[in-house]
Amino acid sequence: MIPFNKPFLTGKELHYISEAHARGQLAGDGYFTKKCNSWLEEKTGSHKALLTHSCTAALEIAAILADIQPGDEVIMPSYTFVSTANAFVLRGGVPVFVDIREDTLNIDERLIEAAITPRTKAVVPVHYAGVACEMDTIMAIARNHNLLVIEDAAQGVMATYKGRPLGSIGDLGCYSFHETKNIISGEGGALLINNPAFAERAEIIREKGTNRSQFFRGQVDKYTWVDIGSSYLPGELIAAFLWAQMEEAEAITAKRLEIWNHYHQSFEDLEASGRLRRPAIPEECRHNAHMYYLLLRDLEDRSAFITQMKEQSIDCVFHYVPLHSSGFARDKPRASAAKLELTSTLSERLVRLPLWIGLSGQQRNVIQSASSSLSS
Ligand SMILES: *Cc1c(COP(=O)(O)O)cnc(C)c1O
Repeated sequence: MIPFNKPFLTGKELHYISEAHARGQLAGDGYFTKKCNSWLEEKTGSHKALLTHSCTAALEIAAILADIQPGDEVIMPSYTFVSTANAFVLRGGVPVFVDIREDTLNIDERLIEAAITPRTKAVVPVHYAGVACEMDTIMAIARNHNLLVIEDAAQGVMATYKGRPLGSIGDLGCYSFHETKNIISGEGGALLINNPAFAERAEIIREKGTNRSQFFRGQVDKYTWVDIGSSYLPGELIAAFLWAQMEEAEAITAKRLEIWNHYHQSFEDLEASGRLRRPAIPEECRHNAHMYYLLLRDLEDRSAFITQMKEQSIDCVFHYVPLHSSGFARDKPRASAAKLELTSTLSERLVRLPLWIGLSGQQRNVIQSASSSLSS
C-alpha cells in the first residue's frame, strides 16, 4: 500500500531530544522553545511568536485575545478544519460562513463585506493548501470595519503572499506542526502576534492566566493569577523535535515542491482535455506544496476514483465535510442556513493524492499512471 501520508524525519530529532533531556528542563519555554520562537520571528518578521501544543490552541488563544463574547460573529469559510470554528464557538462566538473561490478554494473576499453585521468581531482567512487568501483585500475590509484578522495558517508555514509569510499579515496568525503538516512535531503549533498590542496578554493566556513569563524575565517579583487562560504550551521534548525540523524547513519545502511540480506536470493533459482540474496558484502566491489535490467531475466520480486507487494499493483521501452541513451546525440556524454553492460542490469533487518526502519516483509513476488510466 502506498500510504497517503508518512511523517518525514530529518534524523536530528532524537539528538535534540536527548540534548533537552540532558539539559534537565522538560517543562515548556526552555532552551528549544526559545530557539523555535526566535526562528519563527526571524522567518516571518512577526512581532512575537509563541509555540503552542497545537494550531487549535493557537486559535483558542486568538479567540480570547479577540475578546469574543456570546453572540459575537466571526466570518470564516465553511470549507475548513473544525478547529477554525470551534475556537470561537468555545467563547460563545457564532461562525458566519462565507463561500469559497472557485480557483483557490479559499474564502471569497468579494463576499466578506456583505456578511458583516454590527456583531462581527473578526475575519478568519484560512490559507488552504498553503495557498494564500487575497490578503490585501481582506485587510482593507477589516480595517474599514474595525475587525480583527486572525489567519488560520495551519497549512501555510513557509508560504508567502506578495513576499510576506502567511500568518504574519493579519493581527494574529496560527500555525500547525501536526504530523500531517509540512514541518512537524507530532502535535504542535504556534501563535504569531503581529499586532504588538496583543503580545503581553497572549503570554498570560498561554501560561494559565498567570504573569509567569514576566516573572521569569525578572519584570515582576512574584507571579500570580491575572487573567483567564489555560495551559497552551508544549514541553521541551516537543520543541526539541520541532527544532530539528525547523533547521531543515527550506529543504523540506523544496523536496515537497519537487513532488508537487511532478504531479502538476503529469496532470496537465488531463486538465487540458477537461477531464479534471488541477490546483490553481495565483501569481502573488508562493505555496509550500502542503498538498496535491485534483478536482474530479462530481461525488460519484470521486468515490469511484478513490475505490479504484485503493484497489491498486494507493491511499487517496478527501476532506472536509463543510462545517455548515455538519451534524453540529444542523440545529444552529445561522450556520446551517448558509447557501454555499461552491463550498458544497467543490468539496465533493476534491481528492488528495499521497504527498510525502520519500515517495519514490517509481511510486509517483504508479500513482500517476493509475490516476490517468481511470480518466477516460
Ligand atoms: C491542521 C489544521 C488545523 C488544526 O491544527 P492542529 O495543530 O492539529 O490543532 C486547523 N486549521 C486548519 C486549516 C488545519 O489544516
